[in-house]
Amino acid sequence: MSSAHVSSFDFVVIGAGSAGCAVAAGLAARDAGSVLVVEAGPSDRWPLVRMPFGLVWTMGSKRRDWRYRSAPQSALGGRQIAIPRGRMLGGSGSINSMVWFRGRADDFDNWQVPGWSWADVAPAFDAVEAHLRPARLATPHALTEALSGLTGGNDPEALPTPERESAGVCRFNLHDGRRWSAADAFLRPAMARGVQVLQNHAVEKLHMTGDRIDRVSFVGGAEVRARKGVILSAGAIGSPEILLASGVGPAEDLRAAGRDVIADLPGVGANLHDHPGCGLHFMGAGSGYGLDASLALDWMAAPFDWLLRGKGVFASPTVEGAAFFDASGQGGTPDIQSHFIPFLLDWEGRRTRLGRGYFADAVVCRPQSRGALKLGRNGLEIDLGLLTNEADLDLLTRGWMRLRALMRDADFGDMKAPEAYPAAAVKDEEQARAHILAHCGTAYHPVGTLRMGEGDAPVTPRLALRGVRGLWVADASVMPAVTSANTNAPSMMIGHRAAEIIAADSAAA
Ligand SMILES: Cc1cc2nc3c(=O)[nH]c(=O)nc-3n(C[C@H](O)[C@H](O)[C@H](O)COP(=O)(O)OP(=O)(O)OC[C@H]3O[C@@H](n4cnc5c(N)ncnc54)[C@H](O)[C@@H]3O)c2cc1C
Repeated sequence: MSSAHVSSFDFVVIGAGSAGCAVAAGLAARDAGSVLVVEAGPSDRWPLVRMPFGLVWTMGSKRRDWRYRSAPQSALGGRQIAIPRGRMLGGSGSINSMVWFRGRADDFDNWQVPGWSWADVAPAFDAVEAHLRPARLATPHALTEALSGLTGGNDPEALPTPERESAGVCRFNLHDGRRWSAADAFLRPAMARGVQVLQNHAVEKLHMTGDRIDRVSFVGGAEVRARKGVILSAGAIGSPEILLASGVGPAEDLRAAGRDVIADLPGVGANLHDHPGCGLHFMGAGSGYGLDASLALDWMAAPFDWLLRGKGVFASPTVEGAAFFDASGQGGTPDIQSHFIPFLLDWEGRRTRLGRGYFADAVVCRPQSRGALKLGRNGLEIDLGLLTNEADLDLLTRGWMRLRALMRDADFGDMKAPEAYPAAAVKDEEQARAHILAHCGTAYHPVGTLRMGEGDAPVTPRLALRGVRGLWVADASVMPAVTSANTNAPSMMIGHRAAEIIAADSAAA
């Protein structure tokens, strides 16, 4: 698992994340040629990765999270936003909350990319789900069970969906209370078919012979050759960064940053966007989980409950439920997603807080704001462009106010708690706007930096990078627009389809 014996492979897949693992498995299943997967981070065989609640510690870990920070956000008074990204086998899928949503059918139709309509991608989701087997959380908190009534008339067993107003317990890619990521579902079985994996090796640059990318070099100097092609699956931050570091990108920007240009490709790093969101905290005795004397026994038993029975506080992936609703309150197609966490969490920069409670956020499903990723003289600049389009701020404000009203009316019985933050500090829509500008973050779903499409998109609908040969992109960076919910399942769907496309197109080349 930790070393490659030869320095030449048919395919080199860069990044063992949600998409990269699916690419490797798909190439192996088709006997497309020898495959090496290179991963900057370590193994995911670590108890805090397996344990759902462990993400509280792996997020922000020096070893397993890239811990990026955004450039100062112009619409947010120059605030910088944390951008966690998984750095190990399984990628961000090894530090995420494992919430499983395909997105909305017309998310894919709206991409308007030939071969990527809902009718095209639905079979690939079916195939991915046959491996991942996502299922409704087995042991949700009673508060999360009660969430189904939030938007009215929902069957408590029905799953929330971005297709219509709905709320309830989500599906997760968990088996027996343990994380089951793309590394488990795709990479390990692929290794049994001969795929090799090189971990703890960060790719620095790609190299060309003529117009063909055929070599990859690592930080520290070693190289590996790719006879049939290189597949970039380093994620929406890593993939464009590697291209720009290699001199592939907008020539003017690269020269201004003092870098050599090997291919002028405007569009590399553009179109960066994420789901903006802002939350509400509720706190009260007898409510959700939290650091409270009344739960001392539950916390003490938590490691054993999880290890022996896959249950208890440590079996919670923190986010347990979701709601989708129309911010206007007219009951139309949802434009807001809410994540529900039955825990009292920190706020205003405090890491821990005593007491019990719960949290819900409002997130814009289809943001219009766009930022850009650049490699300047001072290194990587990740401008998320959060809320730079006024329409996103208007929608988020209305959505946040509606969430507040829904939570006020929620039927949580004895477990219901009053709003603790921001509470009385925000009374009306104007104050809500200011609060959102001061506190909004993201749902950790950056996409779009190597958009696929026709015309001037840097990546073709067949996932080939324009302007060079021998390079395909397969990860969240190719999404022209983010899907209406969480992005792990769509990233794996992209990886799964990429393998089919690359096996066919590399054989024909
Ligand atoms: C904290 C957090 C919570 C989230 N929660 C959810 C959720 O509950 N549900 C959901 O659907 N989505 C969630 N997401 C988003 C989802 O996990 C991602 O959209 C998805 O994993 C992206 O897949 P990817 O293949 O594009 O990139 P990644 O999975 O990030 O994979 C990229 C891989 O490339 C590697 N890499 C990068 N640069 C290099 C380099 N130079 N050399 C070698 N390797 C490199 C990285 O280490 C990583 O392993 C969450 C994300 C985060 C960070």
